[in-house]
Amino acid sequence: MLQVPTRYLHGPGPSPVPPSVLNALSQPCIGHMDPVFMQIMNEVRQMMQKVFQTENEMTLACSGTGSAGAEMLVDNLVEPGDVCLVGINGVFGGRLTDKAKRAGGTVHNMNADWGQVFSQDAIIAEVERLRPKIVIFVHAETSTGVCQPFDRLAEAVHAHDGLLVMDCVTSFAGLPVKIDPWGIDAAYSGTQKCLSCPPGLSPVTLSERAMHKVRNRKSTVNSWYLDLNLVGNYWTGNRAYHHTAPINMNYALHEALRLVLEEGLEPRFVRHRRVHEMLKAELEKRGFSYASDPQNSLPMLNLVNIPAGVENEAGIRKRLLDEFNLEIGGGLGTLAGKCWRIGLMGHGAREENLRLILDALDQVLA
Ligand SMILES: *Cc1c(COP(=O)(O)O)cnc(C)c1O
Repeated sequence: MLQVPTRYLHGPGPSPVPPSVLNALSQPCIGHMDPVFMQIMNEVRQMMQKVFQTENEMTLACSGTGSAGAEMLVDNLVEPGDVCLVGINGVFGGRLTDKAKRAGGTVHNMNADWGQVFSQDAIIAEVERLRPKIVIFVHAETSTGVCQPFDRLAEAVHAHDGLLVMDCVTSFAGLPVKIDPWGIDAAYSGTQKCLSCPPGLSPVTLSERAMHKVRNRKSTVNSWYLDLNLVGNYWTGNRAYHHTAPINMNYALHEALRLVLEEGLEPRFVRHRRVHEMLKAELEKRGFSYASDPQNSLPMLNLVNIPAGVENEAGIRKRLLDEFNLEIGGGLGTLAGKCWRIGLMGHGAREENLRLILDALDQVLA
């Protein structure tokens, strides 16, 4: 039988999966039209609404990883010729730009240095100039470790009949994601970051305004698989067969969400912040510096400069994996070879994990 080693997952995801979530995965597989599964889907939707802080009816687990959720939103919301505004301050804004162009959007970008965020005033000014139909920013940039403020954007976007879209893949269940209070029209996440569930599903939510656009498109959605006019019926409408949902992954998501709500959103956010502060203090004692804007740094993803004197950073990461079963992330894109990304996500954001990370780093860097 397959034997997989136990690793300590402290990179940019996947994150450590608690035993009860793994147990949920191994429950019996049942039919995707079984009333018991329908009930599980309903509960998954209700729990996702709580974590998204929304009452959106169209809240579902898209079958696929976070990238599938991104495509679900872009493919459904962007019509050919739509003016889109997409922020790029890391890898994921670049990918969203590519997706929006493929969907036929006329894409304008705002750019910020990697490790920095956009001022909301600057975004609002650009929205007033371009009057975009779709505005997409990344809440928690996992490639750079910063949190983009979102609380003041909706009014300007809505004033020009636009929709505000958010990537909250890494922030969901680790930082406040306030869909209704912030006026976000559509957002997507992923299971393998702060939810501490294996990868495979993407929690997605869309407002009534966003769904109005989806239902009244002039052209059909290019993707059949991700067309919310079809998938939406399976999750929230007449339950008509569309595709076979990944049954056991939905059990795992159910258990991961249950754990999040059992802990409570606020205590969970506080725990992420507290463990991050402890790691930061210990790393700084050891001479590490952070490469992300300290005013907006993420608790769940620590972007640090590789210490001077380290010649072969990939060799260090290989030793951490081989000798300590510890995974940390390398830099992505322009940060490759310059930074490490240390994740403290979900079940991994605990003091005992901190000791393990610091002991291992001390030994390999000695
Ligand atoms: C991980 C991640 C994604 C992509 O998710 P996948 O599950 O790898 O497809 C998108 N955006 C952000 C910010 C991420 O961290």
